[in-house]
Amino acid sequence: MNNYYAVIEAGGTKFNCAVIDEHKQFLARSRIPTTNPNETLALVSDFFEQARRPNQPYTALGIASFGPIDMSPSSPTFGYITSTPKPGWSNTDMVVPLAKQLKCPVAFDTDVNGAAYAESLWGAGKGKEVVIYITVGTGVGGGVVINGRPVHGLIHPEMGHMLIPGHPAIQGVCPFHTDCVEGLASGAALSKIWQQPAEQLEDEHQAWDVQSTILSQLCHNLLMSLSPQKIILGGGVMAKPGLIEAVIEKTQISLNHYLTLPHSVQLQDVISPTGLNQDSGLLGALALAQTQAIELPNERKTQNGDT
Ligand code: ZN
Repeated sequence: MNNYYAVIEAGGTKFNCAVIDEHKQFLARSRIPTTNPNETLALVSDFFEQARRPNQPYTALGIASFGPIDMSPSSPTFGYITSTPKPGWSNTDMVVPLAKQLKCPVAFDTDVNGAAYAESLWGAGKGKEVVIYITVGTGVGGGVVINGRPVHGLIHPEMGHMLIPGHPAIQGVCPFHTDCVEGLASGAALSKIWQQPAEQLEDEHQAWDVQSTILSQLCHNLLMSLSPQKIILGGGVMAKPGLIEAVIEKTQISLNHYLTLPHSVQLQDVISPTGLNQDSGLLGALALAQTQAIELPNERKTQNGDT
């Protein structure tokens, strides 16, 4: 029988869940609101139980999650969301109960590392050695793939919390750092700073000029630090028409001819929209499940828990 995968893109407002076969065909999908861990994870578990083939366990489970998360298999809190500002979700075990229930190997990474990975395999970053995926949605996150592997180091990249110069017109709202990218340019920050939801801000509103300035500062720093061949800008806020073009233009100005790009490469080839549209998150979880899944460590398999 063909392989098939249980995949989750766990976000701050919803959990996108899907069952996908090895040819990237979606066999089932569901969107579950992110409320509290007990409620949301119970609905996730029900969905995968119902979508399971009789007598054939899932080949692997892939979870691409909002963070910060613990992805070190040797850690006693492997599989946990750690210190998220999202109420109720700190110290939530995202992995072990579900992997035990589904009885299959599991891969766990950040949503943005997953998306960067899928884009590097099948999307806008295909064939590139250094691919960065930035999502500008409710929050701002960044994932990195270098030479075909999602980057893990001390923990994992948290590019949304990089400090940048910002803009004199606004003050950031991140509870941890004030003037980080997320505190200045996330959908939630836009709503707080301009006192209306981002999607209701008119085209002429100053917010968009400020927004493109801030995102260009981020792109400038990423170009200087990791030398990516692709910076993919995704997420709901990036759907604003004209925003990515403005970011590219301002990044060009900010670079001030310092970088000499390789022959025939232009900045608009480097900074680009997603190649996988809305599915980069789920396909990221699939890519993780297909290539990075591990068996649970024994001590976690036998740990008492809600199986
Ligand atoms: Zn921050």
